[in-house]
Amino acid sequence: MSESVIVIIEHDRGTIASGSLEALTAARTVGADVMAAVCGGTDALAAACAGYGATVVVDLVHPLLDDYNPQAWGEAVAQLVAERSPTAVIACGTERGNETLAHVAASLDLPMVANALRLDNSAEASWTLTRVQWGGSLLEDVTLTGDVKLVSVSHHAVEMQPLPVTEERQTFAPALNDELIAGQVCDRVVRESGVTLTTAPVVVGGGRGVGSPEGFAPLEELAGLLGGVVGCSRAVTNNGWRNHTDQVGQTGTRIAPDIYFACGISGAIQHWVGAMASKKILAINIDKDANMVTRADYAVIGDLHQVIPAISEEIRRRRSA
Ligand code: FAD
Repeated sequence: MSESVIVIIEHDRGTIASGSLEALTAARTVGADVMAAVCGGTDALAAACAGYGATVVVDLVHPLLDDYNPQAWGEAVAQLVAERSPTAVIACGTERGNETLAHVAASLDLPMVANALRLDNSAEASWTLTRVQWGGSLLEDVTLTGDVKLVSVSHHAVEMQPLPVTEERQTFAPALNDELIAGQVCDRVVRESGVTLTTAPVVVGGGRGVGSPEGFAPLEELAGLLGGVVGCSRAVTNNGWRNHTDQVGQTGTRIAPDIYFACGISGAIQHWVGAMASKKILAINIDKDANMVTRADYAVIGDLHQVIPAISEEIRRRRSA
């Protein structure tokens, strides 16, 4: 069955979020006409959307939309929905994607399903979806009715697939007022260099077993040798050893590196849901029965304070050979 679908494009001052490319890819499975809605759009964003199958790119134009503002972004998309009557609005299930879509749902008084893994629009009036609940430990099948289906797609659940098309560029000027200014981003801390926890190909994560803030130095060294970054568990942030921005898990960052070194981390469910999208996991732990060890692809049973320096040493030796 053919649908026309609006995809909410998440970006930060013109840098598109990879999750939006996943959302465009997912939208193509349910819609012949994929329309990208871009608040504060640019030529580069339009080109990126067209590279992933958006046949129409609509720039939503208003000063309140230039920087991230969930309430204003949601209201603008709601007004676009009222004008264009799509069958669905899809976003990526990131914090920003879910937040914006929730405002669309509130404005239109429609139900919304967050963090879907599977979309089935073969039935006439309703969609059948499988969504992630409880931080990834439960999959729930749901039926979504409503004149316009509002769905976010679980981040990292869809492999983004390029599909270059010729895009048509349009503009839409929503009527917004200053009451919507309450939550606009007005400043940000920019990393000066390097990869982030979300995008890093290698993450070296440390847990309570690291023992102290200083204990992270060998993890930093290993991450540096492999072009990666250091992450941690909540036990570590609770102890004040690392900043919350380094935390992996349900209440931290969800990572998807090529390899995750989980060092001195027991693998509690709240940590696991943030790490499980890693392509490979190497656990280093003194406990052979720890959850992280039993779930990992590889494990070294031993003291991380000896194992990690030994790995770094071996990398250096091979590189200098
Ligand atoms: P522990 O569970 O104490 O495990 C330490 C591990 O280190 C053990 O396996 C031990 O064998 C090993 N070890 C000790 N010494 C060494 C050594 N020298 N060498 C090698 N191994 C060693 N947690 C998160 O991580 N992220 C979240 O986002 C998160 N969100 C949460 C949300 C809620 C609502 C709740 C209730 C909890 C959340 N938690 C989260 C906490 C989670 O339940 C665990 O308490 C936490 O992940 C445990 O951290 P840990 O594995 O570092 O510590």
